[in-house]
Amino acid sequence: MGRISSLKIDEVRGAVNIVHYISQFVNLKKAGQNYKGLCPFHTEKTPSFMVSPSKQIFHCFGCGKGGNVLTFIMEYEKLPFIDAIRRAAEFAGISIPEAEFKRDEKEQTYFQKLYEINEIACSYFEEHLSKAMHKAQLDYFKNRGLSEKTIKKFRLGYAPEANNKLVDFLKKKGVELTEAEKLGLIARSYSNGKYFDKFRHRVMFPFQNLSGRIIGFGGRKLKEEQQPKYLNSPESPIYKKGSTLYGLYQAIQSIRENGFVVIVEGYFDLLRLVENRLYNVVASSGTALTDIQARLILRYTSHAVLLYDGDDAGRKAALRNAYILENNGLNASVALLPADEDPDSFVRKNGIKALDPYLKSQLTPVEFELNTFAEENPHPSMEAKNRLIQELLEKLVEIKDPLKIGLYLPLISERLSMTEELLVEQFRRLQRRRKRFAKRTEPEPEENESVTPVRLRQGQYQAEAGVIYLLLNGDQQIRNYLMEKLSYDLFENPHFILLYEAIMNELEETGSVNEEVVLEQFQEDLEIQSIISELALTEFQDQAKFARDCIFQLKKWRLEKQAEEINAMIRSEVESGEAVVHYSIELTRIRKQIHQLVKQHREGSEIS
Ligand SMILES: [Zn+2]
Repeated sequence: MGRISSLKIDEVRGAVNIVHYISQFVNLKKAGQNYKGLCPFHTEKTPSFMVSPSKQIFHCFGCGKGGNVLTFIMEYEKLPFIDAIRRAAEFAGISIPEAEFKRDEKEQTYFQKLYEINEIACSYFEEHLSKAMHKAQLDYFKNRGLSEKTIKKFRLGYAPEANNKLVDFLKKKGVELTEAEKLGLIARSYSNGKYFDKFRHRVMFPFQNLSGRIIGFGGRKLKEEQQPKYLNSPESPIYKKGSTLYGLYQAIQSIRENGFVVIVEGYFDLLRLVENRLYNVVASSGTALTDIQARLILRYTSHAVLLYDGDDAGRKAALRNAYILENNGLNASVALLPADEDPDSFVRKNGIKALDPYLKSQLTPVEFELNTFAEENPHPSMEAKNRLIQELLEKLVEIKDPLKIGLYLPLISERLSMTEELLVEQFRRLQRRRKRFAKRTEPEPEENESVTPVRLRQGQYQAEAGVIYLLLNGDQQIRNYLMEKLSYDLFENPHFILLYEAIMNELEETGSVNEEVVLEQFQEDLEIQSIISELALTEFQDQAKFARDCIFQLKKWRLEKQAEEINAMIRSEVESGEAVVHYSIELTRIRKQIHQLVKQHREGSEIS
């Protein structure tokens, strides 16, 4: 598939009025400068879906979806970018000759270049899997019951046992090897300085982002002596760990249709279910889910079923992930298979129908824990009950949704025969203690800083969003101030890191920032589009003060995070007095820095 020139894309986008387009599907009503309606992406009773005719964007403040008209078409009509342009062009009555869909090399941006290199590598691995001489590797997949169709759909491949076969192939394709090195496809030898292939004799699982682009790879070993079992791509400008989910790209449509997602641990668990036509499944790949991954799922559904192994490790992982999902506003059900079975082996033995009762079980993590406790303690002691209550309450204080708390507390009360009043009282006490603790870790009470915009207090995300917005839209003075104060490590959200990087690249190349040019690079990244549309529809009053507040918060959070880490180290090093002294000095130093920072901020060193 080719690419239309960005000039043409601009022409198409400019020719379609977003209000007219969306009105085909949503009943929009004028509200001030904007239009409002019921969001077509989530169910709601009061409209939080906004369309701005002046900015030509939409954003839902309920579910977070947003972007320009092309984003809307991609999201609503579930079309890939290229077809979204076709659809918009049709609507505007613009004809695009097929020849225009050709690639224009010069217009490739840096990120597109990196995607392209991964794409070349991915096809290379796919090709090798289909070679007759590598039949044994293809059989590896086939013996696990995977069809060619599934292998193609997930673009599975094989990295041959060779020293520099991929290096040569990339060279032949005109790829800059330093960029391929950045992506972790190849590396340079310490001894002779020559490039060699990183993935050797491994079956390959490409990681795709929400637009289907290849952002990295996981390679599984084929021989016992190989290390490690799974070799994964390192983080790169296009790949941040914990910011995607394996299989999500292929699952999106089915998740929407079914209204829930199944989360499994391993690649093969996922592929086994897909092979059996259960498509709404993603894999957490053996690590704890991140908040970013949870929120990613929340864009498509609010219900997730964790289908994990029935052994102790599987149960722990399922519970931990279930609470992470619940803390992020999802409803999680825990479904554990019999011990010693994973979804792969279970379905192979019993068929896909046998999964139904598990998928329908709908056990919340709290119910699940209560059930397990009852099984393990048919006649529980008061002490055991109290311990469980304490554990459960500590998890519940993390959940922000009061409705959920209102459901869980009576449940615990009933199942452990403890009066609800007592339980609520304990819960409140825990909540208060948590608040007090949170306050104590702040250097000084900051109640008198009430002038700080409310949005800032909502956390790191808002401050990161704020500086990105100001870099794109602030005046020169504010931009200079931010460029001087900002650094990479102040960001946590991978999407903002990407944006920050793109802005810095643009500044380096041209000396100025053109919002359009920067955003163009992310036209196909739905997550970033939604962030941008939210910023565009948010009012920022005093930009200079806002810039100063954002930087202050980001710096303070970074220091607090460091202090927290050191605190954890002190706790784990109680044995060694020397280490504790060392860390304590470090901690004092950081506390001083925080103090200084707060003082400076109070005194209000103005932007100059
Ligand atoms: Zn919505």
